[in-house]
Amino acid sequence: MHVLVLGAGLSGVTTAWYLQQAGFRVSVVDRQPEAARETSFANGGQISVSHPEPWANPGAPVQILRWLGRDDAPLKFRPTRDPAQWLWGARFLLECLPWRAHRNTRAIAALATWSAQRLRALRAELGLEYEQLERGILHLFYSAGEFAEAPARARSLAGFGIEAQVCSRDQCLAIEPALAAQSGVLVGGLYAPGDESGDACRFTRALAARVAAAGAQMHWNCSIERICTGHDGSVTGVEVRTAEGGLQTLRADACVLCLGSYGPRLVATLGERLPIYPVKGYSITAPVLDPARAPSVSLTDESRRIVCSRLGDRLRIAGTAELNGFDTQVRPERIAGILEWAQRRFPGAIDIARAEHWAGLRPATPGNVPLIGRGRTPGLWLNTGHGTLGWTLACGSAAALAELMSGRRPAVAFPFLRG
Ligand SMILES: Cc1cc2nc3c(=O)[nH]c(=O)nc-3n(C[C@H](O)[C@H](O)[C@H](O)COP(=O)(O)OP(=O)(O)OC[C@H]3O[C@@H](n4cnc5c(N)ncnc54)[C@H](O)[C@@H]3O)c2cc1C
Repeated sequence: MHVLVLGAGLSGVTTAWYLQQAGFRVSVVDRQPEAARETSFANGGQISVSHPEPWANPGAPVQILRWLGRDDAPLKFRPTRDPAQWLWGARFLLECLPWRAHRNTRAIAALATWSAQRLRALRAELGLEYEQLERGILHLFYSAGEFAEAPARARSLAGFGIEAQVCSRDQCLAIEPALAAQSGVLVGGLYAPGDESGDACRFTRALAARVAAAGAQMHWNCSIERICTGHDGSVTGVEVRTAEGGLQTLRADACVLCLGSYGPRLVATLGERLPIYPVKGYSITAPVLDPARAPSVSLTDESRRIVCSRLGDRLRIAGTAELNGFDTQVRPERIAGILEWAQRRFPGAIDIARAEHWAGLRPATPGNVPLIGRGRTPGLWLNTGHGTLGWTLACGSAAALAELMSGRRPAVAFPFLRG
């Protein structure tokens, strides 16, 4: 059976790999000249099993109201005329209901745990190098009120089988000595020793090379214009516009949608309504000037929603969420908050003047639970909508999809589509 994987970000490349391993003949299509050029290019780098809680939680509506009008708000809503944006916003509010938020957290926790195991196994099997560090993630609290909730969060994570230890300020400093500069303001932390970090772009490109070496045809610079169906309504391939400007049809027995935020528009013509909307985020990547001052344990600032990962001799700092349509421009006022955070929290650690600025669109579902499984259209499969956790969930989602397409039920408690 020949499968066309649509998109070569984290989701598409991992999907291609696991499908090949399951015995499918695979081709990959992307409009870019190489893998991981869009959202998977410069994310926060965290394999964050210890953060399964979606943005849509019971406290979110009040929090978002408090942030209204602030340029540095961690979550910002810029209204557009796009009805899809308003519909997504309404569904987001629905997912904030306590029972829905709990259900979503449970599903994400199960998939994240399974995914981290798949990533470790894959790394061991292929010897992939992507600046990975297995030093855990330390969640930092700068207010006593937020830190007071850390024990309950640790208990909740333990309920999902995820280890997290509540740490005093001194324990945080012992785990990550580069926090010394902020010992006066840090209140405490929550440390998840099983978490990891690494460069998602390097991982995706290294794996894409393995996929190609294993015989997959890689169609670069091909923009997918439409998904083609036969007389019986099932998928027969895609029509692409090539770099030369011509139209070409690529035939297949099945297609897997991994097109990030751009997937829903493409499949809408098939009658598929996917609740995915772009949630923009920013990152900076800067050379490390003083290794002793730059953290190597991956960090999450819980009040600012900023994450930070050491990638070899660079530091990646990422954060912010903006509901702003498909706009990918880097807004200086949003980057400013991240730069200011870096300078205040880790003075002298990185070369701010040489920092690369980036923005990407998280393909987010309202509850942050990805869409994995069968589409409504025969022959269409989905592995998309991973939102804030596409790196954490990549290997598990792709391995699960390959199981589903092989007619088996994956050994993970997750609400797969039409499973
Ligand atoms: C600021 C930021 C920080 C983040 N930090 C983390 C983190 O620390 N940990 C974590 O787990 N996740 C993180 N994420 C989320 C993660 O990066 C995403 O969930 C993930 O990259 C999405 O991967 P994808 O393959 O679905 O999408 P993409 O990487 O965008 O891939 C989609 C591909 O489809 C292609 N494409 C789209 N339309 C077409 C078309 N018409 N024709 C042909 N090709 C097309 C694109 O070129 C692209 O290559 C972060 C995201 C952001 C923005």
